[in-house]
Amino acid sequence: MKFAVTSKGDQKSNRIKAIMEQYLLDFDLERNIKEPDLVISVGGDGTFLHAVHHYFHRLKQTAFIGVHTGHLGFYADWLPEEVEKLVIEVAKQKFEIVEYPLLSLKIFYENKKEAERFLALNETTIKKVEGSVVLDVTIKGEHFERFRGDGLCVSTPSGSTAYNKALGGAIIHPSLSTMQITEMSSINNRVYRTIGSPLILPSHHVCQFKPVDKEQSFIMTIDHITKSVENVTALECSVAKERIRFARFRSFPFWKRVHDSFISDECY
Ligand code: NAP
Repeated sequence: MKFAVTSKGDQKSNRIKAIMEQYLLDFDLERNIKEPDLVISVGGDGTFLHAVHHYFHRLKQTAFIGVHTGHLGFYADWLPEEVEKLVIEVAKQKFEIVEYPLLSLKIFYENKKEAERFLALNETTIKKVEGSVVLDVTIKGEHFERFRGDGLCVSTPSGSTAYNKALGGAIIHPSLSTMQITEMSSINNRVYRTIGSPLILPSHHVCQFKPVDKEQSFIMTIDHITKSVENVTALECSVAKERIRFARFRSFPFWKRVHDSFISDECY
Protein backbone atom coordinates (compact mmCIF):
# COMPACT_ATOMS: atom_id res chain seq x y z
CA MET A 1 0.00 0.00 0.00
CA LYS A 2 1.22 3.51 -0.86
CA PHE A 3 0.94 6.14 1.86
CA ALA A 4 1.56 9.86 2.39
CA VAL A 5 1.71 11.71 5.71
CA THR A 6 0.98 15.45 5.84
CA SER A 7 1.70 17.74 8.79
CA LYS A 8 0.40 21.02 10.19
CA GLY A 9 4.05 22.11 10.20
CA ASP A 10 4.53 22.70 13.94
CA GLN A 11 7.23 20.83 15.87
CA LYS A 12 4.88 18.29 17.48
CA SER A 13 3.08 17.43 14.23
CA ASN A 14 6.37 17.18 12.30
CA ARG A 15 7.76 14.82 14.95
CA ILE A 16 4.70 12.55 14.81
CA LYS A 17 4.78 12.64 11.00
CA ALA A 18 8.44 11.52 11.02
CA ILE A 19 7.71 8.71 13.54
CA MET A 20 4.74 7.44 11.51
CA GLU A 21 6.64 7.52 8.23
CA GLN A 22 9.52 5.54 9.74
CA TYR A 23 7.17 2.93 11.29
CA LEU A 24 5.28 2.52 8.01
CA LEU A 25 8.51 2.17 6.00
CA ASP A 26 9.70 -0.42 8.55
CA PHE A 27 6.53 -2.36 7.75
CA ASP A 28 7.58 -2.26 4.07
CA LEU A 29 4.83 0.09 3.00
CA GLU A 30 5.70 2.52 0.19
CA ARG A 31 5.79 6.28 0.71
CA ASN A 32 4.24 7.87 -2.38
CA ILE A 33 3.29 11.52 -2.07
CA LYS A 34 1.98 11.70 -5.66
CA GLU A 35 -0.35 8.70 -5.74
CA PRO A 36 -1.09 7.53 -2.21
CA ASP A 37 -3.77 4.97 -1.35
CA LEU A 38 -3.89 6.38 2.18
CA VAL A 39 -3.22 9.93 3.38
CA ILE A 40 -2.57 10.44 7.09
CA SER A 41 -2.98 14.05 8.14
CA VAL A 42 -1.26 15.11 11.38
CA GLY A 43 -2.47 18.36 12.96
CA GLY A 44 -6.10 19.40 13.25
CA ASP A 45 -9.23 19.60 11.15
CA GLY A 46 -7.69 22.59 9.33
CA THR A 47 -4.67 20.46 8.35
CA PHE A 48 -7.05 17.72 7.23
CA LEU A 49 -8.89 20.19 4.96
CA HIS A 50 -5.58 21.17 3.33
CA ALA A 51 -4.68 17.50 2.76
CA VAL A 52 -8.06 16.65 1.23
CA HIS A 53 -7.92 19.64 -1.15
CA HIS A 54 -4.42 18.59 -2.21
CA TYR A 55 -5.73 15.13 -3.20
CA PHE A 56 -9.22 16.08 -4.46
CA HIS A 57 -8.22 14.75 -7.91
CA ARG A 58 -7.76 11.26 -6.38
CA LEU A 59 -10.95 10.86 -4.35
CA LYS A 60 -11.70 7.45 -5.87
CA GLN A 61 -8.24 6.04 -5.14
CA THR A 62 -7.26 7.74 -1.88
CA ALA A 63 -8.62 7.25 1.64
CA PHE A 64 -7.96 9.69 4.48
CA ILE A 65 -7.34 9.53 8.20
CA GLY A 66 -6.44 12.25 10.71
CA VAL A 67 -4.29 12.36 13.85
CA HIS A 68 -4.78 15.42 16.05
CA THR A 69 -1.95 17.18 17.83
CA GLY A 70 -4.15 19.86 19.37
CA HIS A 71 -7.71 19.38 20.56
CA LEU A 72 -9.98 16.56 19.38
CA GLY A 73 -11.00 17.10 15.78
CA PHE A 74 -13.91 15.86 13.69
CA TYR A 75 -11.69 14.64 10.89
CA ALA A 76 -8.53 14.32 12.99
CA ASP A 77 -9.80 11.91 15.61
CA TRP A 78 -6.76 9.77 16.47
CA LEU A 79 -4.63 10.75 19.47
CA PRO A 80 -0.82 11.11 19.22
CA GLU A 81 -0.57 8.36 21.90
CA GLU A 82 -2.42 6.00 19.55
CA VAL A 83 0.04 6.37 16.67
CA GLU A 84 1.69 2.96 17.18
CA LYS A 85 -1.70 1.24 17.31
CA LEU A 86 -2.75 3.10 14.15
CA VAL A 87 0.44 2.14 12.30
CA ILE A 88 -0.07 -1.55 13.15
CA GLU A 89 -3.63 -1.32 11.84
CA VAL A 90 -2.48 0.44 8.65
CA ALA A 91 0.25 -2.19 8.12
CA LYS A 92 -2.43 -4.92 8.05
CA GLN A 93 -3.62 -3.11 4.88
CA LYS A 94 -7.22 -4.00 5.54
CA PHE A 95 -9.62 -1.29 6.56
CA GLU A 96 -13.23 -0.32 6.30
CA ILE A 97 -14.12 2.66 4.12
CA VAL A 98 -16.68 5.20 5.31
CA GLU A 99 -17.87 7.71 2.73
CA TYR A 100 -19.11 11.23 3.51
CA PRO A 101 -20.85 13.66 1.14
CA LEU A 102 -19.11 16.66 -0.40
CA LEU A 103 -20.50 19.94 -1.71
CA SER A 104 -20.26 20.95 -5.35
CA LEU A 105 -20.00 24.67 -6.13
CA LYS A 106 -20.23 26.10 -9.62
CA ILE A 107 -19.42 29.75 -10.29
CA PHE A 108 -20.85 31.18 -13.52
CA TYR A 109 -19.22 34.32 -14.91
CA GLU A 110 -20.53 36.95 -17.34
CA ASN A 111 -17.58 36.59 -19.69
CA LYS A 112 -16.94 32.83 -19.49
CA LYS A 113 -18.80 29.99 -21.20
CA GLU A 114 -17.80 27.30 -18.73
CA ALA A 115 -18.56 27.49 -15.04
CA GLU A 116 -15.72 27.14 -12.57
CA ARG A 117 -16.30 24.10 -10.32
CA PHE A 118 -15.08 23.44 -6.79
CA LEU A 119 -15.58 20.77 -4.18
CA ALA A 120 -15.86 21.51 -0.47
CA LEU A 121 -15.57 19.19 2.51
CA ASN A 122 -16.94 21.70 5.06
CA GLU A 123 -18.71 24.53 3.28
CA THR A 124 -18.73 27.46 0.93
CA THR A 125 -19.68 30.97 2.04
CA ILE A 126 -20.71 34.02 0.01
CA LYS A 127 -19.85 37.38 1.53
CA LYS A 128 -18.87 40.91 0.53
CA VAL A 129 -16.14 43.26 1.73
CA GLU A 130 -18.52 46.22 1.82
CA GLY A 131 -22.28 46.44 1.96
CA SER A 132 -24.90 43.70 2.03
CA VAL A 133 -25.00 40.58 -0.06
CA VAL A 134 -28.16 40.70 -2.19
CA LEU A 135 -29.02 37.43 -3.90
CA ASP A 136 -32.06 35.82 -5.45
CA VAL A 137 -32.23 32.31 -4.04
CA THR A 138 -33.64 29.62 -6.34
CA ILE A 139 -34.27 26.05 -5.24
CA LYS A 140 -34.87 23.41 -7.91
CA GLY A 141 -35.49 26.16 -10.45
CA GLU A 142 -38.17 27.94 -8.36
CA HIS A 143 -37.56 31.38 -6.88
CA PHE A 144 -37.51 31.02 -3.08
CA GLU A 145 -36.49 34.38 -1.63
CA ARG A 146 -34.45 37.54 -2.10
CA PHE A 147 -31.70 37.43 0.54
CA ARG A 148 -30.15 40.58 1.98
CA GLY A 149 -27.59 40.36 4.73
CA ASP A 150 -23.99 39.63 5.58
CA GLY A 151 -23.90 36.42 3.58
CA LEU A 152 -24.88 32.80 3.15
CA CYS A 153 -23.19 29.55 4.09
CA VAL A 154 -23.83 26.22 2.35
CA SER A 155 -22.37 23.31 4.26
CA THR A 156 -21.95 19.56 4.06
CA PRO A 157 -23.10 17.28 6.90
CA SER A 158 -19.51 16.83 8.14
CA GLY A 159 -19.03 20.61 7.90
CA SER A 160 -22.19 21.18 9.95
CA THR A 161 -20.08 21.18 13.15
CA ALA A 162 -17.84 23.96 11.78
CA TYR A 163 -18.89 27.43 10.50
CA ASN A 164 -22.49 26.26 10.08
CA LYS A 165 -22.79 25.54 13.80
CA ALA A 166 -21.57 29.03 14.68
CA LEU A 167 -24.37 30.40 12.45
CA GLY A 168 -27.06 28.44 14.31
CA GLY A 169 -27.33 25.62 11.77
CA ALA A 170 -28.26 22.07 12.70
CA ILE A 171 -25.68 19.34 13.22
CA ILE A 172 -26.31 16.70 10.56
CA HIS A 173 -25.14 13.10 10.60
CA PRO A 174 -22.72 12.60 7.67
CA SER A 175 -24.52 9.45 6.54
CA LEU A 176 -27.22 11.80 5.18
CA SER A 177 -26.60 13.04 1.66
CA THR A 178 -27.68 16.65 2.15
CA MET A 179 -26.52 20.24 2.14
CA GLN A 180 -27.56 22.99 4.52
CA ILE A 181 -28.05 26.71 3.80
CA THR A 182 -27.57 29.05 6.77
CA GLU A 183 -27.94 32.81 6.86
CA MET A 184 -25.43 35.33 8.16
CA SER A 185 -27.32 38.24 9.71
CA SER A 186 -30.18 38.60 7.24
CA ILE A 187 -32.05 41.89 7.07
CA ASN A 188 -35.67 41.30 8.00
CA ASN A 189 -38.16 44.17 8.15
CA ARG A 190 -41.29 45.30 6.32
CA VAL A 191 -39.36 45.65 3.05
CA TYR A 192 -36.99 42.68 3.11
CA ARG A 193 -37.88 39.15 4.13
CA THR A 194 -35.97 35.91 4.31
CA ILE A 195 -36.93 32.54 5.78
CA GLY A 196 -34.64 33.06 8.78
CA SER A 197 -34.23 29.32 9.42
CA PRO A 198 -31.51 27.01 8.13
CA LEU A 199 -32.66 24.93 5.15
CA ILE A 200 -31.63 21.31 4.67
CA LEU A 201 -31.83 20.16 1.06
CA PRO A 202 -31.76 16.61 -0.31
CA SER A 203 -29.18 15.43 -2.82
CA HIS A 204 -31.46 15.87 -5.86
CA HIS A 205 -32.08 19.59 -5.17
CA VAL A 206 -29.88 22.24 -6.73
CA CYS A 207 -29.85 25.78 -5.34
CA GLN A 208 -28.75 28.86 -7.20
CA PHE A 209 -27.82 32.29 -5.92
CA LYS A 210 -28.09 35.11 -8.46
CA PRO A 211 -26.75 38.61 -7.81
CA VAL A 212 -29.45 41.26 -7.94
CA ASP A 213 -27.31 44.41 -7.94
CA LYS A 214 -25.06 45.48 -10.81
CA GLU A 215 -22.10 44.93 -8.49
CA GLN A 216 -21.39 41.22 -8.98
CA SER A 217 -18.27 40.83 -6.86
CA PHE A 218 -18.13 38.60 -3.82
CA ILE A 219 -15.71 37.18 -1.32
CA MET A 220 -16.17 33.44 -1.34
CA THR A 221 -14.71 30.87 0.96
CA ILE A 222 -14.37 27.21 0.05
CA ASP A 223 -13.29 25.46 3.25
CA HIS A 224 -10.00 27.18 4.22
CA ILE A 225 -9.62 28.94 0.85
CA THR A 226 -10.73 32.55 0.34
CA LYS A 227 -11.43 33.69 -3.18
CA SER A 228 -12.44 37.06 -4.59
CA VAL A 229 -14.80 36.69 -7.56
CA GLU A 230 -16.03 39.31 -10.06
CA ASN A 231 -18.60 39.42 -12.88
CA VAL A 232 -20.56 36.58 -11.35
CA THR A 233 -23.92 35.75 -12.91
CA ALA A 234 -24.82 32.80 -10.67
CA LEU A 235 -23.51 30.52 -7.94
CA GLU A 236 -24.83 26.98 -7.91
CA CYS A 237 -24.62 24.50 -5.04
CA SER A 238 -25.56 20.83 -4.91
CA VAL A 239 -24.51 17.65 -3.13
CA ALA A 240 -21.50 16.46 -5.17
CA LYS A 241 -21.48 13.13 -7.00
CA GLU A 242 -17.98 12.61 -5.60
CA ARG A 243 -17.60 11.50 -2.00
CA ILE A 244 -14.69 11.53 0.41
CA ARG A 245 -13.47 8.15 1.69
CA PHE A 246 -12.29 7.78 5.27
CA ALA A 247 -10.20 4.81 6.35
CA ARG A 248 -11.85 3.39 9.46
CA PHE A 249 -9.85 1.20 11.81
CA ARG A 250 -12.08 1.46 14.84
CA SER A 251 -15.52 2.69 15.76
CA PHE A 252 -15.82 6.33 16.84
CA PRO A 253 -19.48 7.25 16.37
CA PHE A 254 -20.22 10.73 15.05
CA TRP A 255 -22.48 11.62 17.99
CA LYS A 256 -19.71 10.61 20.42
CA ARG A 257 -17.37 12.96 18.56
CA VAL A 258 -19.99 15.73 18.83
CA HIS A 259 -20.40 15.02 22.55
CA ASP A 260 -16.65 14.94 23.21
CA SER A 261 -16.00 18.11 21.20
CA PHE A 262 -18.81 20.30 22.43
CA ILE A 263 -20.18 18.89 25.70
CA SER A 264 -17.34 17.17 27.57
CA ASP A 265 -14.62 14.66 26.83
CA GLU A 266 -15.69 12.60 29.83
CA CYS A 267 -17.88 9.52 29.31
CA TYR A 268 -21.60 9.98 28.64
P1 NAP B 1 -9.26 28.50 11.20
O1 NAP B 1 -10.01 29.79 11.30
O2 NAP B 1 -7.79 28.52 11.49
O3 NAP B 1 -9.92 27.38 12.17
C1 NAP B 1 -11.27 27.18 12.23
C2 NAP B 1 -11.64 26.17 13.33
O4 NAP B 1 -12.65 25.29 12.79
C3 NAP B 1 -10.50 25.29 13.83
O5 NAP B 1 -10.61 25.19 15.24
C4 NAP B 1 -10.78 23.97 13.16
O6 NAP B 1 -10.32 22.85 13.90
C5 NAP B 1 -12.30 23.96 13.14
N1 NAP B 1 -12.92 23.04 12.17
C6 NAP B 1 -12.61 22.84 10.87
N2 NAP B 1 -13.44 21.93 10.33
C7 NAP B 1 -14.29 21.55 11.32
C8 NAP B 1 -15.38 20.63 11.39
N3 NAP B 1 -15.77 19.97 10.32
N4 NAP B 1 -16.04 20.52 12.56
C9 NAP B 1 -15.67 21.22 13.66
N5 NAP B 1 -14.65 22.10 13.65
C10 NAP B 1 -13.98 22.25 12.50
O7 NAP B 1 -9.50 27.93 9.74
P2 NAP B 1 -8.98 26.60 9.06
O8 NAP B 1 -8.24 25.76 10.05
O9 NAP B 1 -8.33 26.96 7.76
O10 NAP B 1 -10.38 25.89 8.76
C11 NAP B 1 -11.31 26.40 7.84
C12 NAP B 1 -12.65 26.22 8.42
O11 NAP B 1 -12.84 27.14 9.49
C13 NAP B 1 -13.81 26.51 7.50
O12 NAP B 1 -14.12 25.41 6.69
C14 NAP B 1 -14.92 26.89 8.47
O13 NAP B 1 -15.78 25.80 8.73
C15 NAP B 1 -14.21 27.25 9.74
N6 NAP B 1 -14.59 28.60 10.17
C16 NAP B 1 -15.38 28.71 11.25
C17 NAP B 1 -15.83 29.95 11.66
C18 NAP B 1 -16.71 30.04 12.86
O14 NAP B 1 -16.96 29.00 13.50
N7 NAP B 1 -17.23 31.21 13.16
C19 NAP B 1 -15.46 31.11 10.97
C20 NAP B 1 -14.63 30.94 9.85
C21 NAP B 1 -14.20 29.69 9.44
P3 NAP B 1 -8.77 22.56 14.16
O15 NAP B 1 -8.35 23.49 15.25
O16 NAP B 1 -8.77 21.12 14.59
O17 NAP B 1 -8.02 22.77 12.88
